Amino acid sequence: MLTRRKLIKRLSAVPLLGGLVGSALPLESALASEVAKVPARDVLKELGLRTFINAAGNYTAMTASIMPDEVLAAIQTSSQEYVMLEEVQDKVGEKIAALVHAEAAMVTAGCWSALVLGTAGVLTGMDQKKVSQLPRLEGTGMKSEVIVQKGHNTGYVHALTNTGVSIVEIETIEEAEKAINEKTAMMWFLNTASLLGKIQHAEWVALAKKHNIPTMIDIAADVPPVENLWKFNELGFDLVCISGGKAMRGPQSAGILMGKKELIAAARLSAPPRGGNIGRGMKVNKEEMIGMYVAVERFVNMDHVKERKMWDDRVAEIEGKLKTVAGVTTEMYLPPIANHVPTVKITWDNTKIKLTRKDLVENLRKGSPSIEVVPGGGDLPSIDVTVFMLKPGQDKIVVARIKEELTKALV
Ligand SMILES: *Cc1c(COP(=O)(O)O)cnc(C)c1O
Repeated sequence: MLTRRKLIKRLSAVPLLGGLVGSALPLESALASEVAKVPARDVLKELGLRTFINAAGNYTAMTASIMPDEVLAAIQTSSQEYVMLEEVQDKVGEKIAALVHAEAAMVTAGCWSALVLGTAGVLTGMDQKKVSQLPRLEGTGMKSEVIVQKGHNTGYVHALTNTGVSIVEIETIEEAEKAINEKTAMMWFLNTASLLGKIQHAEWVALAKKHNIPTMIDIAADVPPVENLWKFNELGFDLVCISGGKAMRGPQSAGILMGKKELIAAARLSAPPRGGNIGRGMKVNKEEMIGMYVAVERFVNMDHVKERKMWDDRVAEIEGKLKTVAGVTTEMYLPPIANHVPTVKITWDNTKIKLTRKDLVENLRKGSPSIEVVPGGGDLPSIDVTVFMLKPGQDKIVVARIKEELTKALV
């Protein structure tokens, strides 16, 4: 084994390090400062990866968001020491819970993993045998059905069915009352689909409470507004699941499960570092836990009015510059629930501008710098530009490139 003495001796033999070891600096900080001196490599460039201006939004395939400096610094610092993973989860969970006004919280491997682990916790409680039986439910004494409104029954329910449960689809309160039975484990709500369901939040929670059934809500992409971090805890949902790497700009592979203390404790039985459970593959490292904590803290404390003003200024810049092109109309809209941030819809008259939406998207992608936007819906050709993931000054580049492409295609 390499003793501290031997290590110092070896380091002294390295000419560059010799001076440092002889100084008053403790060995650890001498080593840490050497780590910092490793020349930064532009690995993205080495690999020939295309980087782009993100005028599209928080898309998982586009790596969602860029972590702020505070988050990166916390990740860097925490990566230099060993700690017990469970203790990180305890401490970080407590801090996050206080920030989001929940009884308890844990960092998960994304919102999806929060959905899986939260459901697992509801099914197993603190029973270790049940934890090891998932995703098999038959003959175990565990409940096996989750009630979901028809409009909420999307691909995301696959996170729930990973635990072995089946989905019971209902549309009205009466149907829900009929569907509830001794096998009902949970009632699940997809916030982004609220407007597609007949039953709203308060009624959903009241119905569940009446029958003593736990509730879970998926609010993955539903901040801003920041108040949504606590709104659903306060409304009485037992579990709330959110993505960490979308608008909160934590690590992309992190998320948060928050809610009732005993349910979070139960969910942790299915999560690493424990094995022999369905969640062992949903590992979150200490850096992501710490990074997620710092990201939530930053998001809760930041000046959201100022942030919104910056987005509105970008929208004004884009709309102002494009108004001068014949046949182009622009309109700012706010998606009502998920990704509730200013978005500009740019529409053009294709008798005046001969360009398909697909070609504009492609031309912006192939240009320099490369830019990602979203092809718009509707009959007329259009694109959607989202401004919240832009870095300062990029709004000017984006609008100049769009204007150039539209002007080139004028007939
Ligand atoms: C993004 C998203 C998820 C998955 O979240 P991850 O953090 O990527 O795991 C789940 N539900 C909804 C509604 C989402 O938008």
